[in-house]
Amino acid sequence: MIVVGAGNAAMCAALAARENGAEVLVLESASEADRGGNTRYAAGQMRVGFGAAKNLMQVVEGLDAEALAHVDIEDYGPAEFFDDVARLTQYRTNADLMDVVVGRSLDTLAWMRSQGVRFQLSFGRQAHREGKRFRFWGNLPCEAWGGGVGMLEAYYKQAARTGITMLYGVAARRLVTSGDRVCGIEVADRGEVRRIDAGAVVLACGGFESNADMRAMYLGPNWDLAKVRGTRFNTGRGLKMALDIGAAACGQMSGAHSTCWDLNAPESGDLIVGDSYQKHSYPFGIMVNARGERFLDEGADFRNYTYAKYGAELLHQPGMFAWQIFDGRAIAMLRDEYRVRQVTKARADTLEALAEKLEGVDAKRFLEMIGEFNRAVPAVDGPINAGVKDGRSTHGLAVPKSNWAYPIDEPPFEAYAVTTGITFTFGGLKIDTQARVQSTLGQSIGGLCAAGEIVGSLFYHNYPGGSGLTAGAVFGRIAGQSAAQHARSAR
Ligand SMILES: Cc1cc2nc3c(=O)[nH]c(=O)nc-3n(C[C@H](O)[C@H](O)[C@H](O)COP(=O)(O)OP(=O)(O)OC[C@H]3O[C@@H](n4cnc5c(N)ncnc54)[C@H](O)[C@@H]3O)c2cc1C
Repeated sequence: MIVVGAGNAAMCAALAARENGAEVLVLESASEADRGGNTRYAAGQMRVGFGAAKNLMQVVEGLDAEALAHVDIEDYGPAEFFDDVARLTQYRTNADLMDVVVGRSLDTLAWMRSQGVRFQLSFGRQAHREGKRFRFWGNLPCEAWGGGVGMLEAYYKQAARTGITMLYGVAARRLVTSGDRVCGIEVADRGEVRRIDAGAVVLACGGFESNADMRAMYLGPNWDLAKVRGTRFNTGRGLKMALDIGAAACGQMSGAHSTCWDLNAPESGDLIVGDSYQKHSYPFGIMVNARGERFLDEGADFRNYTYAKYGAELLHQPGMFAWQIFDGRAIAMLRDEYRVRQVTKARADTLEALAEKLEGVDAKRFLEMIGEFNRAVPAVDGPINAGVKDGRSTHGLAVPKSNWAYPIDEPPFEAYAVTTGITFTFGGLKIDTQARVQSTLGQSIGGLCAAGEIVGSLFYHNYPGGSGLTAGAVFGRIAGQSAAQHARSAR
């Protein structure tokens, strides 16, 4: 059987199919040096419905009762994971599919560990130090060692060990069918078009976020101008191939995961800087647009419940940019990504001097707005506590700030320019709980499964951080099992 793609979902499918006795060929359109899709750019954080913290011992290397005694990790089970997705997607997520994701998340991470992926607690990104203890916030305590790169290295090693064949620089172009089932694939291989027969095919070749044309068509005006956070190889070809043979599209075809991304970042991902073009400390400051106005609630929730929808907010601002503003109180708390060399930044000792440096911003209105903001926040009663939603909210502003509302008044002042960085697209192929691709007539298309970002109807409008890798791994593994079974029966 054939797996298209070599990212997280594809490699889970390939390894699971191999475990189930299939001969597996993985097709990757990128070269070996560029392989791995968006997974390669991912921080590697994975959302999991673990229940009580002790259950993380099944996944996190070296975690024992003694280590757990030094950290505070709130219980978070499949029901809470499901509720988070339901709330953020405005109750549109496909409940049958999401039930599978949340219910199998812990077991799938344990399986990934058995395949060689190593996990650790996410101290750097998701924990706040309180004296000698670490409090984990945002229900996201688990990440892969070495991020997405580390995860992929483990998969590729296991693939080599178990006899999976990998072909690089080979792009799938068209699905080949016999009657109503898929029996192979047509590929472009170094300038030649050829056909490869297969008992089953798994499409795990990402969304269409790297294709400006499809972004404009499906997502709408200005999305063609967004920066691509990850791979340039997710061009939507997999989606088109499946639609061409009668597969159904589903989910929010006009929606995408997108974040605050450095204004001068390259057009698509850069592996040296990786995800450090993102700027995610906005809950501890404010964001202003060209008019010198705030336009969203920076403190609506922990950043991992808001970051995936705030990129789209930037798209609607004049000039498609904003500046994030921090004062001396917040600067020490900024995430590591603010300290990279490739950053668009201004710094000054007074707000007036900063206003002059904010390229493209109405300086007069900016200063008035800061005055209004500072008058609308509660009196300062101690340092900012990033580990809890502190309920310190503004009063009387048209655009509220619901938590962490401190005045912007303590020098020095820093500002960071951001624009929309698209991560992945929300709409995609319709699958059932066995990851079988569904046709527009409501039937499974024989021999065709899908997993990962190419699948639609899991996420709408927004997304809880760390869910993409988990959804891809859960359905990747299932797709591999289903496809292996189909390939066996097709023999
Ligand atoms: C900067 C960044 C940080 C992120 N951080 C996180 C995080 O911490 N946690 C999290 O859960 N998610 C994160 N994500 C999202 C996460 O990366 C994705 O949800 C996940 O990696 C998608 O996996 P996938 O296997 O579906 O697709 P990908 O990993 O994108 O793989 C798709 C593969 O298909 C290949 N391909 C495409 N078209 C073809 C074709 N026609 N023929 C052959 N091959 C083809 C591509 O080259 C690629 O190998 C992040 C994303 C980015 C960009």
